[in-house]
Amino acid sequence: MKVYKFGGASVKDAAAVKNVAKIIQDHAEDDIWVVVSAMGKTTNALESLLEAYRQGLDTREQILEQIENYHREILDGLFPFSGHEVFLTLNTTLERLKETLENRAKEDYDKIYDTVVAFGEDLSAMILSAYLDDRSYLNTWVDARDVILTDSTFREGKVDFVKTGKKVKERWNSIVESTNITGKGLLISQGFIGSDGKNTVTLGREGSDYTGAILAWSLGATEITIWKDVPGMLNADPKFYPDAERIPSLSYQEATELSYYGASVIHPKTLKPLQNKDIPLYVRSFMNPTAEGTVIHHDESQDHSHPSFIFKQAQVLISITPKDFSFIAEDNMSQIFALLSKNGLKANLTQNSALSFSICMDDRGKRVEEFMEECRLNYKTLYNQGLSLLTVRHYDEDTLSRLLKNREVLVEQRSRKTARFVLKGGFNLSTPKPR
Ligand code: ASP
Ligand code: MG
Repeated sequence: MKVYKFGGASVKDAAAVKNVAKIIQDHAEDDIWVVVSAMGKTTNALESLLEAYRQGLDTREQILEQIENYHREILDGLFPFSGHEVFLTLNTTLERLKETLENRAKEDYDKIYDTVVAFGEDLSAMILSAYLDDRSYLNTWVDARDVILTDSTFREGKVDFVKTGKKVKERWNSIVESTNITGKGLLISQGFIGSDGKNTVTLGREGSDYTGAILAWSLGATEITIWKDVPGMLNADPKFYPDAERIPSLSYQEATELSYYGASVIHPKTLKPLQNKDIPLYVRSFMNPTAEGTVIHHDESQDHSHPSFIFKQAQVLISITPKDFSFIAEDNMSQIFALLSKNGLKANLTQNSALSFSICMDDRGKRVEEFMEECRLNYKTLYNQGLSLLTVRHYDEDTLSRLLKNREVLVEQRSRKTARFVLKGGFNLSTPKPR
């Protein structure tokens, strides 16, 4: 069996949903478990909706109406018969959402957040399932909450792999054995959500890739395919480099490194479970479904064939020096890291000398200020804003000299495979190409 994951952009309107259905139908030779995320930007809209309810803003009705109209328009484009029961399901789901918000918006934020944003995934998976049924492509809806079991860390649920694996297998076996007339199974589930047994728990933003990997791991799938709006993993961000190149093959290791440094194609937690069971992951374009895409697997032979680069914008560099001019030692570092974690900040790059410790991180405004404020009790701090962090994997001198031409470098770090630079200024289209 295979797992197919479709993200929000792949189901952003009726035409897109039809395209997804076609991809599924064209691959019907195999059993498929489909994972689908919320349509378009619905998760962001639900976040704003919850905020509006918590603060009692007048915009509540308006945001709710936008979410409703958006989904209704998709249904209108998919189901010509306005008496189809899917319209009723939409109404009852939205009523439940409204009721939840009216009664519970002010409960513990993380907990109610998960309950509220999950409505986007419910609607999306429900609509896709109904549409496929309507096209006579019978499928079984499996609520992810019944099989993906987590602890109660709301918004960042930790998956219990043993229990989840067992549940997923049980469900799969019973469905494929009992309802499968053609010998092929088609299951549809929401991404991004699971359950602690009582409440909905999400796996972190953009977590649907991870859902796909958990299902694939549980069933020892032959493959998982993540269908995206890009032709595969690319060697640079296509938003900035329209002619970024596709990387045909990557090892789990290399893909993990790239996502660690900030390449945002795959959710970082996705790869480990797949690597553990040696399940290949394909990244392919839903706009061009017959194109080859990228395969991520155990084969490392092509990892070095492309220099890839990853830019992180809006960085800040903070240098921290003990007030008494003592050396920077382990106790200082642990204190500084504790302050980072307390303020919800993450070091993207660190460098230390005898007398100072420098950290490059995302400029998260107030959080950074508060962090520095606390540092100032024991340290002298200096900071530099308006920076960017460039990471080049498999660099060569030629690429680097082109990239760094006319740039002021504040910090430079090189290892055998990776070169990293904290640069003054942002990033724009005149920045040289990967090669
Ligand atoms: N819908 C969720 C989000 O936007 C999960 C996902 O897209 O993977 O974060
Ligand atoms: Mg999404």
